[in-house]
Amino acid sequence: MKSIVIQKPREIILSEKEIPKPGPREMLIKVMASGICGTDIHIYKGEYLGSYPVIPGHEFSGVIEAIGKEVTRFGVGDRVAIEPNIACDNCINCLNNRQNYCLNWQAVGVTLPGGMEQYVSVPEKAAFSIGELPFEQGAFVEPLSCVIHGVERAKIRLSDCVLILGAGPIGNLILQTARLQGAAQIAVLESNPGRAELARRQSADLVVDRLEDLKPATYDVVIDATGAIPVMNRTMDFVRNGGTILLFGVPPAGKNIELEAFRIFQKELTILSSYTSVRNSFQAVNLLLTGQVKVAPLISHRLPLEEISNAFDLIENHDPKVMKVMILPNG
Ligand SMILES: [Zn+2]
Ligand SMILES: [Zn+2]
Repeated sequence: MKSIVIQKPREIILSEKEIPKPGPREMLIKVMASGICGTDIHIYKGEYLGSYPVIPGHEFSGVIEAIGKEVTRFGVGDRVAIEPNIACDNCINCLNNRQNYCLNWQAVGVTLPGGMEQYVSVPEKAAFSIGELPFEQGAFVEPLSCVIHGVERAKIRLSDCVLILGAGPIGNLILQTARLQGAAQIAVLESNPGRAELARRQSADLVVDRLEDLKPATYDVVIDATGAIPVMNRTMDFVRNGGTILLFGVPPAGKNIELEAFRIFQKELTILSSYTSVRNSFQAVNLLLTGQVKVAPLISHRLPLEEISNAFDLIENHDPKVMKVMILPNG
């Protein structure tokens, strides 16, 4: 089978290897759609502390090809999406329902072989049935799970005014879930015209391309989906007194943001971050299956495994047409 390997930063190869055999509690997945995420780009650029080589891909779906002896929930031919974070279920954080901080954390596509190959073995507990959901949409279960975790942490209330900074794939999913949470007014900051237009079609009330076009101190909840320090520094200007700032986008490591401590006090702000997800995959599958969250319009490119370097270049160079890039390892 064909497999993508990041040997070391900026060195990708397409390798041929044996199809793996699943262990007793594992399942062999024929990967049908595998989304490229910002994390894959970080691994590719070497902005990631783990060890190489890595087979990337943690946002994917496929068909079960074979199951281990002790697998009970699934059978061959079942269609599944993967929740890549594998918690040990036995450390102090797991035992306290905080699996996203598992002390023995492993992740498919980060520390374990991922979905940028034709077949991959994953633990049974990492798989979620997707029914008849198209595979490309199933590949959104992971990013949508993370967004659900973040939006639930932000506690958006009925009739809230929400500002979302950035409308890439993640900002767009935040927009859709914030609407479902009952936000009455949603404004979006996005300078890429294609992404701005999509946000408008996905129900944004106001889309602006400059912060100067937004009214200060207006929003109950301000959510950063850019991870850009200069944008994060401005969040406090737009949040209302008593409001909430959710820092969702992944910022560069080692950089500080500047938020005036007195204003945090005076505005009585809640400032939150959000780190991966905690068992939000069932919610994500349900929202996708029922069409409450629509992800088909977010897919801008469909490419074979062989094109992965080009796909990374497109994303890294901020090609204006890029939204979500899907790799289709089995055509
Ligand atoms: Zn991701
Ligand atoms: Zn643990």
